[in-house]
Amino acid sequence: MATENHNLQPLLGMTLPQLQALASEQGMPRFAAKQMAQWLYEKRVTSIDQMTNLSKFAREKLARDYCIGREAPLSSVKSTDGTVKYLFRGAPGRDIEAVMIPDRDRATLCVSSQAGCKMGCKFCMTGRQGFHGNLTAAQIINQPLSVHEADRLTNIVFMGMGEPLDNLDPVLQAIEVLTAPWGLAWSPKRITVSSIGKLDGLRKLLDSTKVHIAISVHTPFPTQRRELMPVERAYPLTSVIDLLRQYDFAHQRRLSIEYIMWHGVNDDDRHADALIRLLRGMEVRVNLIRFHAIPDCDLTSATDQRMVEFRDRLNGAGITCTIRTSRGEDIMAACGMLAGKKSLQS
Ligand code: SF4
Repeated sequence: MATENHNLQPLLGMTLPQLQALASEQGMPRFAAKQMAQWLYEKRVTSIDQMTNLSKFAREKLARDYCIGREAPLSSVKSTDGTVKYLFRGAPGRDIEAVMIPDRDRATLCVSSQAGCKMGCKFCMTGRQGFHGNLTAAQIINQPLSVHEADRLTNIVFMGMGEPLDNLDPVLQAIEVLTAPWGLAWSPKRITVSSIGKLDGLRKLLDSTKVHIAISVHTPFPTQRRELMPVERAYPLTSVIDLLRQYDFAHQRRLSIEYIMWHGVNDDDRHADALIRLLRGMEVRVNLIRFHAIPDCDLTSATDQRMVEFRDRLNGAGITCTIRTSRGEDIMAACGMLAGKKSLQS
């Protein structure tokens, strides 16, 4: 798969209505939009010339301004546990990463939505590198279509680089392509969007999709959360929880709470009890996550024993809680370790 001319507009990531508008602009019959969607998402062609049920004239005209938009990974590295980290072209100045995590009969791809991130969470490598740009819908959809395991992916999680709700429209567009019958026709139950809880975007995501939601909480105390996650100032956790309480997570979709555990910071019973009070009555699952050391950060992971005790305290209070297995730490692909690479683009 060749990298295409970046001056051309990608077709990848376009929705059916957008392809219909394009067909009309190009003087093609309306049904050509469905044909293009089929070539892009079902047959997964890599060049416009392969769209052989469009006339030669139509293909040549289309190729003057458009390309497919598929781009092969720039590189990949495999962990001893089977996790694979891929590097893709991102925004000028910063390439982006996607991580494939195999687990028995599942293969989950953790995709990026931004090159870098504006949110500045103290414990995150992506946040440390600053913000370099939003990914387009084409760049987001390209990740699941272009990894080596593309044909056997079972799940997609928006937990890679960036805050998905800070790049909402391309993320929603990518979700539409992933789930629409004319697109990849995935069930929304195979997709999870993880967010720090950007309220405006969260409401729109909840109203317009049925994907699972994961919220990064990390501490139930506002003052401490402000120190760890500056976003608490703009979007207080209590407001995020109030919003989530208005939606049904008992049936079609699932709500997870992400909680990284740091030694001596948020791993005691006081935190567990406050978290129990915060989530009381909600249909929710709490994921406890080991912290992976990153450079120039004095935080360290809670001990295994403390994590087990914390988990048991939540379970004892009726809140489903599990400890997430760490994956890909040896290739810097574990949670919070994604940094991408400085790209050679200007
Ligand atoms: S944890 Fe998520 S929101 Fe926070 S800086 Fe990292 S990528 Fe951004």
